[in-house]
Amino acid sequence: MDFSIERRRLVEKLVMEGVIRSEKVKKAMLSVPREEFVPKEYKRWAYFDEPLPIGFGQTISAPHMVALMTEALDPKPGDKTLEIGTGSGYQAAILAEIVAKNSLNKEGHVYTIERIPELAEFARRNLERTSYIRYVTVIVGDGSLGYSKEASYDGIIVTAAAPDIPKPLIEQLVVGGRLVIPVGDSGLQRLYIVTKKDNNTIDVKEDIYCLFVPLIGKYGWK
Ligand code: SAH
Repeated sequence: MDFSIERRRLVEKLVMEGVIRSEKVKKAMLSVPREEFVPKEYKRWAYFDEPLPIGFGQTISAPHMVALMTEALDPKPGDKTLEIGTGSGYQAAILAEIVAKNSLNKEGHVYTIERIPELAEFARRNLERTSYIRYVTVIVGDGSLGYSKEASYDGIIVTAAAPDIPKPLIEQLVVGGRLVIPVGDSGLQRLYIVTKKDNNTIDVKEDIYCLFVPLIGKYGWK
């Protein structure tokens, strides 16, 4: 099976639908092999625009959701980025393409946190096989607390649904930084695009409705 033809076809569809709007997201989606981030038995469905199971009741998000969230985050080359909910590592690889791999002399990096150790290991293997591991650090832990060790971040993306905006994530953003996070209960959520205006002010834009697995942790669901 020639995945590169399927990948191009999917990206063209997402451009036509207006989901992919920037050259950098288009280039990243054309570069990262999604088939390397799904379990073997699902490879043939890697370029269907659908979420797929990755074990432990979790999923790799649908390509349109990855593209849409990446556009909303608007990462720049050289950015220090935090992802919460590593899952397969696919979203982390897309971010790494933009902030680190094509950043020339700027040193961007992606930190990504996963609470299920087996999934963190799955992601690490996928990122090693595809050589993104040099731009990505996978951490096991409760990402609802952020990752204070490497703060502050230019951008934070949460790929699991939170009951509210976790306070530590705002604290760990630079002024002018952006947080993209689905907020709502297990039935339905809304994607929030949050900009840190200054140390006491945030601007919250409520974007599309969506459906994610729950963020489980101190500032997530119990
Ligand atoms: N971004 C992933 C998809 C993530 S699915 C990808 O590209 O494949 C959401 C993930 O968030 C799941 O793996 C789940 O275990 C994880 N998760 C849920 N709560 C978490 C928390 N508090 N900290 C870190 N990871 C969490």
